[in-house]
Amino acid sequence: MLNTHLPTLAELEHATEFQARHLGPWDEEQQHMLSAIGVASRQALIDGIVPASIKRGNPMELPAPLTEAQALAELKAIAQQNKLMRNFIGQGYYGTLTPGVILRNILENPAWYTAYTPYQAEISQGRMEALINFQTMVTDLTGMAIANASMLDEATAAAEAMTLAARGGKSKSTRFVVCHDVFPQTLEVIQTRAKPLGITVDLVHAAQLAEHLQTNDCFAALMQYPGVNGQVRDLRPLIDALHAKGAMAIVAADLLALTLLTPPGELGADIACGTTQRFGMPMGNGGPHAAYLATKDELKRSMPGRLVGVSVDSHGDPAYRLALQTREQHIRREKATSNICTAQVLPAVVASMYAVYHGPEGLKRIALRVASYASILAEGLKAMGRQVVHTTWFDTIQVLAEDREAVLAAAVKLGINLRDASSDSVTISLDETTTRNDIIDLWTVFSGGKPLPSFAAFENGVALGLPAKLRRESAFLTHPVFNTHHSETDMLRYLRGLADKDLALDRTMIPLGSCTMKLNATSEMIPITWPEFAHIHPFAPRDQLKGYELLNEELCAWLSQATGYAGISLQPNAGSQGEYAGLLIIKAYHESKGEGHRDICLIPESAHGTNPASAQMVGMKVVVTKCDADGNVDLDDLKAKCEQHSANLAAVMITYPSTYGVFETRVTELCKLVHQHGGRVYVDGANMNALVGLAAPGQFGGDVSHLNLHKTFCIPHGGGGPGGGPV
Ligand SMILES: *Cc1c(COP(=O)(O)O)cnc(C)c1O
Repeated sequence: MLNTHLPTLAELEHATEFQARHLGPWDEEQQHMLSAIGVASRQALIDGIVPASIKRGNPMELPAPLTEAQALAELKAIAQQNKLMRNFIGQGYYGTLTPGVILRNILENPAWYTAYTPYQAEISQGRMEALINFQTMVTDLTGMAIANASMLDEATAAAEAMTLAARGGKSKSTRFVVCHDVFPQTLEVIQTRAKPLGITVDLVHAAQLAEHLQTNDCFAALMQYPGVNGQVRDLRPLIDALHAKGAMAIVAADLLALTLLTPPGELGADIACGTTQRFGMPMGNGGPHAAYLATKDELKRSMPGRLVGVSVDSHGDPAYRLALQTREQHIRREKATSNICTAQVLPAVVASMYAVYHGPEGLKRIALRVASYASILAEGLKAMGRQVVHTTWFDTIQVLAEDREAVLAAAVKLGINLRDASSDSVTISLDETTTRNDIIDLWTVFSGGKPLPSFAAFENGVALGLPAKLRRESAFLTHPVFNTHHSETDMLRYLRGLADKDLALDRTMIPLGSCTMKLNATSEMIPITWPEFAHIHPFAPRDQLKGYELLNEELCAWLSQATGYAGISLQPNAGSQGEYAGLLIIKAYHESKGEGHRDICLIPESAHGTNPASAQMVGMKVVVTKCDADGNVDLDDLKAKCEQHSANLAAVMITYPSTYGVFETRVTELCKLVHQHGGRVYVDGANMNALVGLAAPGQFGGDVSHLNLHKTFCIPHGGGGPGGGPV
């Protein structure tokens, strides 16, 4: 019999599949809920809640929707515009082999990537055990007493170490010394962070540091270990010289190198920091990766970031929970030790499990292989008449090259990226993925067509570049967890057992306050581990990053549409970092108008703790304004404070809709008021998913906002990170 209700071809092709699959309640369920609250339709509900005065005048201009398959095909085409090369650029980013059992069962597993921040200990024991492993891994490898459960990236960790030293140390100096061979991106972040706090940053050659300290004071210094050009320096004399001045020593150290090198703690360092990227997290064009920060015990109350501790539960059994939370922004607000909220839990779990899976012997074997290849590479280059700059190294060789441009170009021809280190040198950083063939290809780059040295000649008996007096003697990762799960079967069962202790969105919804939780489409997660996205070095030549560039341009354009703002920066890697960047923008704006004296930041008492913590970090003075019983901003109090501080008003930070979920009706009035007094309005966009398509902060009076892509768009929460906080 002929079916008279056959859909048309256009209907069959229509791309509604995504919405139907991902927007929870069906029509009947929606009707049921609407009738329960006595509202006729969803539109009527929206009309009743969102003030007419802020409704956007124009709809968003977005491309036509795609099915998931179409979107993946489009993303694949974009990914393929990135050029996959063999990267030897180093500078904090290295090739790494993510063990399959970790890739599939953590990074690609919703039980891990959709969990929320572990504030509820009873549903987070699995994750917290993984984070305790992370902390133990870091303290063992660095030789420090205590480590936190991850930082946002190495540069931020170094900047936080600087402010920790300023807070926790005895020195009254406002000078901070950075050694010349610190990663350049770290130096840049430190300079940015130092300025609003009135800290002067001196860049000093490590060889001149002791001499510099004779005539200059400082409260701390940062050293890279090994340095960006590969040199492995004995830091003990520098650390002693710093301590003699009452200053602290901060060492940014490579964890893989520390399996072979005397750790910072044994050298006398007060703080160690760095990245854990090369422990199984792909480079991903620069992130996300977990950084680490570890200190002496006496600094633990001043540490930034989250800390997991072991406690005893009501049955007398050991249980994990977040510890020392009284240091955090949620409680201390503008007096917090840092503004960090979302950190890098998922990458930290990956790094910790990489250590669990390989164990101390496995890590040492990887490090020794890398160090051996580095020595063979160096000896071969010398045999070819090339000058190797340093006499010590772990994984990075600096080579003099008057013909540097020709060398870099020859490398690219072979599909190889080297680091352009100086006007007459390049560096080559090896990693876990390096093979014999890579060494031969690297020699070829420098050979100018002449015969290559014989790999076999160096094969046995080449000396490592690690100084004898810095060889690590102490044991590390001695805890059973790092010495048990070394077969894939054991590892898989360990990971499954931990995941089973936790509640994430793969089991149920998590109705948690301001951090609106959503289950991401699986399709959205698939591309992140594609090689064309995952194995891209952030400092590769720009013409190799066309896919990423396109992705960034499109995302910026769409976020501009959603927010009503003129420009977007995708750099901040959490909401807190977006707040920080956004407030710096406001500060720079006032300075550009000759009004750099404006330093008062009004913040309603209901604001998220990161708001006052960020304001303090940019050197603003926080003035708290009142809220009424419903959590609405008390406009009379705000008005009084605007008038009182009119001459010095820099900014007001509001959250819209508010932390209580309320669309305050007088928000346009509030913005006008602030502008009249010369201040700028920062609209915290953590709840932006309530506004997309309905209202745009850039249209109703906001000047700057951040968005939390891990809350309101399609980055999963990762158990407490990674995040994305574009501003
Ligand atoms: C989560 C949140 C923040 C902080 O964002 P992170 O990404 O965790 O740093 C700021 N404001 C509000 C309202 C939030 O909910």
